[in-house]
Amino acid sequence: MTSHSVETYVANPVEDFIRAESIEQALEVRAKFGSECYPLVGGTDLLVLMRAGRWSPRVILDLSRIPGFADIRQTDSELVFGAGATAADCLANEFIRTNFPAMYKSCAWLGGPQIQNAGSLGGNMATASPAGDTVPCVIALEGTVVLKSKRGERTVSAEEFAIRPRKTVMEEDELIAEIRVPLANLASDPRGFQPDAMKVPKLHTVVPRPPFGSGGAPDSWMTNDFLKAGPRLAQVISIVSMAGFVEMSGPRTVKRLRLAFGCAGPKTMMGKSASAVVEGKELTEELIEEAVRAVQQDITPLSDVRGTAEYKRMLCSNYARLFLQDVGGFKLTGTRKASETLA
Ligand SMILES: Cc1cc2nc3c(=O)[nH]c(=O)nc-3n(C[C@H](O)[C@H](O)[C@H](O)COP(=O)(O)OP(=O)(O)OC[C@H]3O[C@@H](n4cnc5c(N)ncnc54)[C@H](O)[C@@H]3O)c2cc1C
Repeated sequence: MTSHSVETYVANPVEDFIRAESIEQALEVRAKFGSECYPLVGGTDLLVLMRAGRWSPRVILDLSRIPGFADIRQTDSELVFGAGATAADCLANEFIRTNFPAMYKSCAWLGGPQIQNAGSLGGNMATASPAGDTVPCVIALEGTVVLKSKRGERTVSAEEFAIRPRKTVMEEDELIAEIRVPLANLASDPRGFQPDAMKVPKLHTVVPRPPFGSGGAPDSWMTNDFLKAGPRLAQVISIVSMAGFVEMSGPRTVKRLRLAFGCAGPKTMMGKSASAVVEGKELTEELIEEAVRAVQQDITPLSDVRGTAEYKRMLCSNYARLFLQDVGGFKLTGTRKASETLA
């Protein structure tokens, strides 16, 4: 473990900067300094908030050099992201590219290349901002967060991890060690995802998947997607985002639907009412509209500098519509234009 005194450009001075060389060392430091110690991976949230004087750690604990902390691997049942894995690490991962388009897209649109190279999934989760783009992707796919401390290890559902902005269930001696997603929810979409067709100008759009081949739709298949609205095409905090996950039977029968909305409430908000409308039923254009209306029951967006609450509500409904239309192979009519009104 190396310790540096640092001259920083932040509002309040930091007493110590400690670079951990192992998870055990990091847990020692966390246990010793508790709430006065802030972990750091990329620093893309931490330093911004320190400069603004909103966070004032006495000690910064650098996790970025811990061997294996950024690894992305698979077990028999889970895709495991080391908490230090960056957006760029996800973009370079072939399995994520083909099986987890929601995560791939959220990382492709997270900040710009510099932020993607530095910003980690653990940092995105721990900041507990409703605008954290990778978080809805993990939640929609029923992922979990693995927390470690000197006391041991525990796993919490990603949906339960954030309580409100900047407040999580993490105790002050804990670290996020891993973020996990069940492999069973990542079975490949038979119609395929074409990341190369996803150019930046398509930021707000679904890339429609091709129809099923001559064999028709399988009895059981899944897909996931991510949509995000922002005023620019890069370096943009979401106005609203949505990660969708669906398990299907045949071309249009929905077994399971998970819609997770960013910037639509104090934390990632789940569209549970929409799930209740469609689960066990065959998608029709009328059923999709019923689900789209139900989305409104589960979101509580506020007006802010990025958009009015009404605009955000309209975006959430439109994103649910786009996702379900794409899943069911219907013509895409969802839109993000501000001139559109709520259905
Ligand atoms: C210009 C710019 C553009 C951005 N654009 C986007 C965007 O489009 N979408 C988006 O979602 N975010 C965006 N962000 C925010 C930020 O980049 C992400 O939230 C990023 O994922 C944070 O990761 P990090 O490693 O930099 O976290 P850090 O800044 O290092 O840490 C953030 C917080 O998490 C804590 N922490 C970090 N790792 C752990 C851990 N393993 N265990 C416990 N606590 C931990 C830190 O103590 C701190 O409180 C942007 C930021 C900037 C500056």
